[in-house]
Amino acid sequence: MTPDTDAAMGRALELAAAAQEWGDTPIGAVVLGPDGAVLAEAANEREKRGDPTAHAEVLALRAAARVHGDGWRLTGCTLVVTLEPCTMCAGASVLARVDRVVYGAEDPKAGAAGSLWDVVRDRRLNHRPEVTAGIRAEESATLLRAFFRAQRGL
Ligand SMILES: [Zn+2]
Repeated sequence: MTPDTDAAMGRALELAAAAQEWGDTPIGAVVLGPDGAVLAEAANEREKRGDPTAHAEVLALRAAARVHGDGWRLTGCTLVVTLEPCTMCAGASVLARVDRVVYGAEDPKAGAAGSLWDVVRDRRLNHRPEVTAGIRAEESATLLRAFFRAQRGL
């Protein structure tokens, strides 16, 4: 883990916490450019937008592509996200050609970067981002647990 990655995860956790304000599951994502600087960031906005694909990772990858300067390719970039990506977001990071995916908590119910599936390291695909898991995982898991507990009215 580089200092850039740790700081980016800190920012992703802030974004995750903000998502709760509009009723979305607390998940945040940051895309770092090849130089380690933040290219784009986003929180989960599925409820806010009424859009099933408005996951933090997809929104951050789209925003990053707009500023990266190489069209849709995010070569050299790192996706940092508080929760293990789902199948859609793992697929999106492969399609975006990011070099690395860094995530916090594992998602045993829907994770596609090592838990239920391993889309990002599937040898049948022509691009495989490097994966770093478990970065500040406890902070992410704590946010999620508190959110779901509140949803259940406990
Ligand atoms: Zn997703």
